[in-house]
Formats: sequence, structure tokens, C-alpha cells
Amino acid sequence: MRRKLVVGNWKMHGSHKANAELLSGICEARPFGADVAVCVPFPYLSESAVALAGSDIRWGAQDCSAHEQGAYTGEVSVSMLAEFGCRYVIVGHSERRAYHGESDQLVADKAKAALARGITPIVCVGETLAQREAGETETVVKRQLSAVIHALTHCVGEMVVAYEPVWAIGTGLTATPEQAQAVHAVLRAQLKAATPKADGMTILYGGSVKPDNAVTLFGQPDIDGGLIGGAALKAADFVAICRAA
Ligand code: PGA
Repeated sequence: MRRKLVVGNWKMHGSHKANAELLSGICEARPFGADVAVCVPFPYLSESAVALAGSDIRWGAQDCSAHEQGAYTGEVSVSMLAEFGCRYVIVGHSERRAYHGESDQLVADKAKAALARGITPIVCVGETLAQREAGETETVVKRQLSAVIHALTHCVGEMVVAYEPVWAIGTGLTATPEQAQAVHAVLRAQLKAATPKADGMTILYGGSVKPDNAVTLFGQPDIDGGLIGGAALKAADFVAICRAA
């Protein structure tokens, strides 16, 4: 039996005031039956770590550099994230792939760098609407995951995978539980071919998860929780999703 995981992806949202309210709202609603984490913007890692210290809510970042250190203006290394107690880092989010031209190989390198510092990468994969309509969903997600599997070799079992259909992110269009489950099963099968740990691995669904659709999504056999964007910014919604898991 896999334990469910719910991760809030705050994206580029937040302020000292909003964060304090959101984090205290989440903490007050504990305990949850699932593991819960928030991935916050870099400048807020420190205050999030303070606010969540002593609770079982975990925190992490939304991206990292593939490099350890050096002349990489604007980048943040996994060693730095480790100093702030990050448990997770999201890598390969479709917004990074689309707006920052991140390749499958770069995403794989980032995942590898994270694991080398003991931080669990949440590796995002997902197809665009055009790719889905062209019948390419399976090919696309398998290609994206394959690059990471290849880079991680014997550590494949340590990552978290998130299936996020690009057409469902922030659009209010959610994949149906059946559509999501079908892709999760494909990803699980691909992981099984790569590691004996595949049955214990966490595969999250992301893309317009809301309190009212979380229960059916999380009820699918290969959906082990969610990566939550918009609904992670309001304590009441996020808490409801955590309770659904
Ligand atoms: P959304 O975002 O829940 O707002 O669709 C999910 C994500 O991008 O991780």
C-alpha cells in the first residue's frame, strides 16, 4: 500500500503575509492521513522552514540548478536547498520546459543533482493538447521519463514522478480519472522495467486538481496523490485536497 502525497506548487505567488496565513492554516488542520508538502519560491524557503519546523509538513523548491556551484547567475544549487531543509524539488515542470527551454536531458541532470544531495526530485512529465490530439501522449511522457531513468540508473526508485498534462494546468480542464489513470499505468510500467521498486514509487497527478475532483482522482489505482497549483494557495482548498488523499 503506497502512502499518498499532496504537494502544493505555489509557483510565483506569495508574500510574507500571505505565506504566514497559508502555512498556519495548513498546520492548524493537521494531522493528515497523507504526506503533505509545499514547494515555495526560493526567497520564502527560510520563513517556510521556520513556520513548518516541528510539524510533519515538508517543504521544497520549484526548480534547481544542475550545477553544484560556479558562475551561473540567477541559479540556485541543490546544496543551497539542502541548507534550508528542502525535502523535495520540482524539476521539469511544463512551465520551465516551455518558458525556459528546458530539455529532457537538463531535467534529468537536475533530478540527478537533487538525489546526490538527498533531495527528492518531483519529476514532471506531460503532453500538450496538440500532442494528445495527435495521439502522442504515451510517446511524449515515455520520452520525458526515459531521459531521467537513464540518468538516475540505480536511484530511479528514489524519485517522485508527476504526470501533469499541459492542457490541464491552470485551465480548469482536469484529465478525467480514467485518462489520468491510463497514463499513470503507462508510467508505472515504464518504471517497472527500470527498477524493482516501481510498485512502491509515488506517481502524482497534477492539473486543475480541486477539492471536488480530488477524491476520484486519488481513488485511481496508480494515482498516489497530487501536485497542486492554484488550489494550493488557499488554505481551505489545499486542506480539503490533503484530506481527500
Ligand atoms: P494547477 O497547477 O493545479 O493550477 O493546474 C498544477 C501545476 O502546475 O503543478
